[in-house]
Amino acid sequence: MGPNFLRRSLIYLVVLVALAAIFFAFFPFSPAVETGSLDRLVGMAKNGEIDRIVQQGEALTGMYGDTPVLKATFIGSTAELHHYLVGEGVDMDKLALEPQAPSGFNWGILINFLPLVLFGLLLLFLFRRARGAGDQALSFGRSKARLFSIAKSTVTFDDVAGVEEAKQELQEVVEFLKFPEKFTSLGARIPRGVLLVGPPGTGKTLLGRAVAGEAGVPFFSISGSEFVEMFVGVGASRVRDLFEQAKRNAPCIIFVDEIDAVGRHRGAGVGGGHDEREQTLNQILVEMDGFDSSTNVIVLSATNRPDILDPALLRPGRFDRQVILDPPDIKGRKAILEVHTKGKPLEDSVDLETIAKQTVGFSGADLANLVNEAAILAARRSKQATGMQELEESIDRVMAGPEKKSKIISPREKEITAYHEAGHALVARKLPHGDPVHKVTIVARGMALGWTRFLPTEDRYLWTRSQLKDKLASMLAGHAAEDLIFGEMTTGSHSDIEQATKITRKMVTEYGMSEKLGPRTFGRREELVFLGREVAEQKDYSESTAQQIDEEVHALIQHCYGVAKEILTQNRAKLVQIAQELTAKETIEGQELDTLFNQPAEESPPTPKRKKK
Ligand code: ADP
Ligand code: MG
Ligand code: ZN
Repeated sequence: MGPNFLRRSLIYLVVLVALAAIFFAFFPFSPAVETGSLDRLVGMAKNGEIDRIVQQGEALTGMYGDTPVLKATFIGSTAELHHYLVGEGVDMDKLALEPQAPSGFNWGILINFLPLVLFGLLLLFLFRRARGAGDQALSFGRSKARLFSIAKSTVTFDDVAGVEEAKQELQEVVEFLKFPEKFTSLGARIPRGVLLVGPPGTGKTLLGRAVAGEAGVPFFSISGSEFVEMFVGVGASRVRDLFEQAKRNAPCIIFVDEIDAVGRHRGAGVGGGHDEREQTLNQILVEMDGFDSSTNVIVLSATNRPDILDPALLRPGRFDRQVILDPPDIKGRKAILEVHTKGKPLEDSVDLETIAKQTVGFSGADLANLVNEAAILAARRSKQATGMQELEESIDRVMAGPEKKSKIISPREKEITAYHEAGHALVARKLPHGDPVHKVTIVARGMALGWTRFLPTEDRYLWTRSQLKDKLASMLAGHAAEDLIFGEMTTGSHSDIEQATKITRKMVTEYGMSEKLGPRTFGRREELVFLGREVAEQKDYSESTAQQIDEEVHALIQHCYGVAKEILTQNRAKLVQIAQELTAKETIEGQELDTLFNQPAEESPPTPKRKKK
């Protein structure tokens, strides 16, 4: 290596560093967000396109949920900004202002001291080069957690509608935060982690803020995807920082949004982000285990993919409580509409119940969006108040939105689903060994258009043959009801049938429940115990036995299907009654369901038209 080589590489380096510095001065580390005028920001706030503004020195960032939408500048304090926005006619109930300490890096200063900084960077660069391309992360570990001070989290449970069960469960968390002595004096362990589970837009983030608001405690929030976004090795240190800050501010809430981004099954990751996630996840676990029972910090987190979470997260002492947020039914949708129209001018003719009926499959976020669209329409028509017409038009607009398309449920589908679920419920109710029906709903969840929840009378480790047969009958009853009422079948029974077939096969080949084939098993499974996995089944029976097995499975399913069909035929009026009630209310549960079952049904109620065969 001659001196020439050294000089050349030095020049290259200087040019490189200068370019990098200029690049970063113009494009800071924050994700690329459009910069616009203050006027535009105000306009967006009025239209509800942003719901909070983060003020950091002179920089404002308009955010919707967790996504930055528009940047602008404002010179003045938060109070002045508030005053200005009110003056511009922004509804401050709908807009949160979040002052943030200016970030450590001030780019204006950087430009002034550019030469000095360049020189420093150069030294650093050479130094690092000398040490090899080892740990590349500078100290970007400071947590970006936002501190919502007590006055700032103004969201309360009243702002969250239609998720009563979830609110009840979280009420307990609020109590813990407010009066920890009440629980610790009795030796009760304060819950450490609560996992909010629900599809997108059901109000998980909102509910997290509401808990902080109700308890009047600080609220640290960070989103799982933020952990992964930056340099390697930073996730873990951010977690450490976050928990440190939180412990200093106890009692408080740490809210980890979208935890599935870091909390995936370890080892299941694909590509480079994988190690980083693992370290971040490990750090979360370490921190949560490190709390002693007196630390009054509760970790709330939210996900719409509980199925992919690492089981370690769900162990006792971590996120051992789950709060489920279901998509809203009619009553819930009406309540959400009420929350979002509160304080806004509405015409007298507006009937929110009618809107609720027409918005099957809408999430809370969709409904908030709908109310907003309607207000925009009304404003464009220079009206003084939002009318029914605008609301109804907005339904179509929201539905036409890109993310909604898959979820539109037609009235016909709704009706079929109602009969399908009513069939499950009615047959289970009528059979002696059926589990009590706890809840029937036609509010779509995941892939299922509706579902019926059974409440087992006892924990069951043994199933009798009669119980299994009754279970099969109620499983197949959805299909039977569709056939009976509409003379037609749909793909909606797919998973019912699949499950029923599985159970029947097991009854015949594993439980010895077939009289013809007797008590023996068919098929040998090699189990690779250390992998916890089953490998392909080996056939240990003849072809003719195989045929017999098929026949037995077939006969058993047919028998149970027949039982279901029979019950439904005999109680057709009841079936119609339940289905109609379901169509109207979407969800029926508990006492209401009992009453409905016990009510006498009309003799010949109007039934839907059968499809001609
Ligand atoms: P998630 O975190 O579950 O995806 P968010 O909490 O971000 O959903 O909801 C987005 C917006 O939708 C909220 O800010 C609120 O305006 C509205 N929203 C969602 N669910 C509800 C609800 N249950 N009640 C009232 N508003 C809701
Ligand atoms: Mg969210
Ligand atoms: Zn079904």
